[in-house]
This record gives sequence, C-alpha cells and structure tokens, in this order.
Amino acid sequence: MSTHFILSRRKAILGALGGAGLGLMAGLPRSSLAASGARPTSRLNASEALNSLMAGNARYVANQPNALSYVPGRAALTTGQSPFAIILSCADSRITPEFAFDQRPGDLFVTRVAGNYVTVDSLATIEYGVEFLGASLIMVLGHTSCGALSAAVEVARNATVLPGSLPKLVAQVLPAVERVKAEKGMLPPAEMAAASIIENVRENVERLRTAAPLLSHYAERGEINVVGGLYHLGTGQVEIIGV
Ligand SMILES: [Zn+2]
Repeated sequence: MSTHFILSRRKAILGALGGAGLGLMAGLPRSSLAASGARPTSRLNASEALNSLMAGNARYVANQPNALSYVPGRAALTTGQSPFAIILSCADSRITPEFAFDQRPGDLFVTRVAGNYVTVDSLATIEYGVEFLGASLIMVLGHTSCGALSAAVEVARNATVLPGSLPKLVAQVLPAVERVKAEKGMLPPAEMAAASIIENVRENVERLRTAAPLLSHYAERGEINVVGGLYHLGTGQVEIIGV
C-alpha cells in the first residue's frame, strides 16, 4: 500500500462532507488505517481540549454560556469538520454534551449508548473521529443515577430478568458491578450503583486506551488522551474520574 494511495484515500474521505464520508471506510484496507502518520493535525492538543471542555462546563454550571449564533458557523461547517473532542456518553436525556461543555456545532464528535460502554460501532465511530477528523481527546462520560447501571445492580442482586434486548445491554456493564462487588462486597443498591457507575467509566476508558491498532497507538505516543468524566445531574458539573 503506497503512502500516496493512503493519503489520496484519506483526502477523499475527509473531503466527503466530513462525517458523511464514514460510509467510505467500509472499503478501506486495514493497512491504510493503521497509523500512517498522516492523521489530521489536532485543532487543540489533548490537554488544551480537556481545558476547553472543563472551561465550558464551568460556564454551563454557572449558567453563563457563551453567546451563540448558529447561522455563521453553519455555513463554515459545510466544507468539513474538525471536532477537538470525542464524547462517549450515556443516552440519558438529562445530559446533553454540547450544552454541558458549552460547545458549538463542529466542536464535539459524540456517540451515545445507555451505560456509555464501548461497542464495536462506537469504537469505530471514535476511531473515525481520531484518525480522520483529528480529535485529540476522548471522554467517557457517565453520570449520577444512571438507569443502565441501576438495572445491572438489580440483576446482580436479584437475578432480575429484563425484557427484549435489555439483557444484552446490561451484560456489557455488569462487569463493573461484579468488580465493585468483588472489592467491596454487596453494598446497598444506591451505593452499589454509584460505585459501579464510576467503575464502568474507568473500565471503558481503559478499553479505549488499549484498543488496537489505532487508539492504543496514538495513546502510547501521547497524541491522544482518554479520560473519564462523571456528570452530576444536580449541578451539571463534570467531575474527572481518575483511572
Ligand atoms: Zn445513564
């Protein structure tokens, strides 16, 4: 695979209406995806990106968001996108990452699933954001009172059988509950859920940091960082979760 070919394909993808080019990735050989050194330059490095997120969160918490005019930015974004951060968020309707971090369209590349855990699809989405859009920071964003983790605690405590496809979702976050149980014993439900929410964030941060071949490569070189966050429903504050 020649470098020229790789860059040509990359250029074609980047030019294809930003994120709409995602479909083209299906035909890309793996060798062209693996760390060719031609990743787009990050708009902000990982440290600057985290500072920007947290400064935005402080504005949101203080109810002092930046003034926003959608029209000028919309025109500029028709030619492409360069989000500086990727957020893997819970689907919970009470959390809106763009509001919580006071960011504009084009700033955040967001993928969401109840329980904010890594799926095959969300991993690919995140890889796209890193490799082709140049984002330097990934945040796994959990939140207090998460229904997905509460359900997993209920399953762990009472062997409750959930309907439909929900058992498959719960199975993905259950390891966090089991780990808390192994370390601290079976806590009361609310405490168990609170500890499991944090453990689940930590586990998924680690999963992304070590996801080969792309994310692990860039994380090892310090080109990207993966952090955990806990959104507090009552205050809107995002607390950084250490791993
Ligand atoms: Zn949730």
